[in-house]
Amino acid sequence: MKNIAIIGAGTMGNGIAHVFAMNGFKVSLVDVSQDRLEQAIETIDKNLWRMVAKEKIDETVKEQCIENISTFTSIEDAVGDCDLAIEAASENMDLKLSIFRELDDACPPNCILASNTSSISITKIASVTTRPDRVIGMHFMNPVPVMKLVEVIRGYHTSNETTATIMEMSITLSKIPVEVNDYPGFVANRILMPMINEAIYTLYEGVAGVEEIDTVMKLGMAHPMGPLQLADFIGLDVCLAILKVLHNGFGLTKYTPCPLLVNMVTANNLGKKTGEGFYKYSKETKDIVVSASFK
Ligand code: NAD
Repeated sequence: MKNIAIIGAGTMGNGIAHVFAMNGFKVSLVDVSQDRLEQAIETIDKNLWRMVAKEKIDETVKEQCIENISTFTSIEDAVGDCDLAIEAASENMDLKLSIFRELDDACPPNCILASNTSSISITKIASVTTRPDRVIGMHFMNPVPVMKLVEVIRGYHTSNETTATIMEMSITLSKIPVEVNDYPGFVANRILMPMINEAIYTLYEGVAGVEEIDTVMKLGMAHPMGPLQLADFIGLDVCLAILKVLHNGFGLTKYTPCPLLVNMVTANNLGKKTGEGFYKYSKETKDIVVSASFK
């Protein structure tokens, strides 16, 4: 495999592009928004400079990495010779189905189609293509250049060959793949999201404040970051979308999204990416300034 297409240049798409380009692959990065593409290249450039400063790579490697990435606003223009297409667009079922129909039409027949979805059924996504054996989940963690895990999700029809190729590819990227089956939330988010939702309920019911809840989980459970801060990093819209998939998929009230989370998403307080969620973030550095106040 040499040519990789990545659909969606947001938080995850730019990180995935960074990792493939660093490992010598030719990356075609696609987004409907030219602004998001420019921001993605800026972010990758900034992160690579950070690696140069830490002497993890030299400037030649950094330049080569940037040269390995081309940007496109149309899927059709980007995927003609690609061996693997990874979709990392917004967590919305209809959007993903329409992207996979387009990828299936435009990609070469042998190309593997992967989704970085956090929770949407791979079997469902595969059902709109003519190659369900070559559709798979390749769930990177945020921030992609730092986090080691890739959750590799087998849909109902995913072949052994496709699974083996993606497991090997993840190892080539110096990641550690874990194979799981296709049920709502897979493993990572089936366990993580109920914990985040419970932390939000704890705040909503006035049991404790933002910093108190996060401190209990950091110091008491040795988590590197509290669940409310983590929710801000993931994006509250993404958290809500995943909880809805768990709620609909299992039909259990224990997955009901907390009304406070629903309100915050409606008010567009989505966490770090919009400058405010459970914490407020500085515009320039995106560091936490203060915890937001809740009535
Ligand atoms: P994001 O909102 O930062 O980025 C999504 C990007 O998709 C945007 O730039 C948007 O313009 C683009 N997009 C929308 N429609 C498109 C289309 N038709 N064609 C091409 N691009 C399109 O979202 P994100 O946080 O990067 O999440 C992307 C995916 O990764 C989601 O499925 C999410 O569940 C998953 N994920 C997110 C995280 C996380 O921590 N944010 C972690 C793991 C997986």
